[in-house]
Amino acid sequence: MSLPDGVERRSFDGGERLATRGEPVYGEPTDGPWRVWDAGRSKLGAILELGLDTGLVGGESGLYLGAASGTTVSHVADFAGPTYAVEFAPRPARDLVDVAASRSNLFPLLKDARRPETYAHVVESDLDVLIQDVATRGQADVAVRNRQFLRSDGRLLAAIKARSEDVTRDPAAVFDDVLDDLRGAYEVLETARLDRYHDDHLAVVARPRDE
Ligand code: SAM
Repeated sequence: MSLPDGVERRSFDGGERLATRGEPVYGEPTDGPWRVWDAGRSKLGAILELGLDTGLVGGESGLYLGAASGTTVSHVADFAGPTYAVEFAPRPARDLVDVAASRSNLFPLLKDARRPETYAHVVESDLDVLIQDVATRGQADVAVRNRQFLRSDGRLLAAIKARSEDVTRDPAAVFDDVLDDLRGAYEVLETARLDRYHDDHLAVVARPRDE
């Protein structure tokens, strides 16, 4: 699948790596304005490396849930349009604010993604994409609650961490349950295990069902 505009495969240290243009954030290698997007540190980077059909073309408006210190969402803001970044832990959220300082389209929100009503007055509706990497119990529920921000043909791009749901169960069984829970609100278009880059994670591409 093609990469969104603003994301390129470029040569770094003799190998091809994904890269975006922006201020470096996490000590990643750079070449002029380009910075490596490390798929080993980013589920969305892994999703793009594996060639899933994300629907991303560049310039999208989006809501990113589980922004942490801004590693992945910084790359998203490099190629996307307005990007709202939700993180509920104060310490990484402080780093996220620094990351946003050089990105005028990145809006950090110190909020709980399980409570979208607390940021619905700030975040636009009809967004193109909802990106989720919350690594918490109830990942399907978080995606369902935040569906309200997506336009009808928008995309959910979620990384589901099995161990956050139940450390004792077989990840495949956990993923089946999460997908069942998602299907009430979303049509699942594609899934892929991310184990090559992230153990026991499932990538999900989905679009909202008609309400
Ligand atoms: N997406 C990040 C990246 O690639 O740079 C890494 C995210 S880390 C795996 C998961 C993050 O989700 C943590 O920073 C955690 O604090 C956050 N998180 C978990 N539950 C959350 C919730 N209910 N609301 C907001 N953030 C949450």
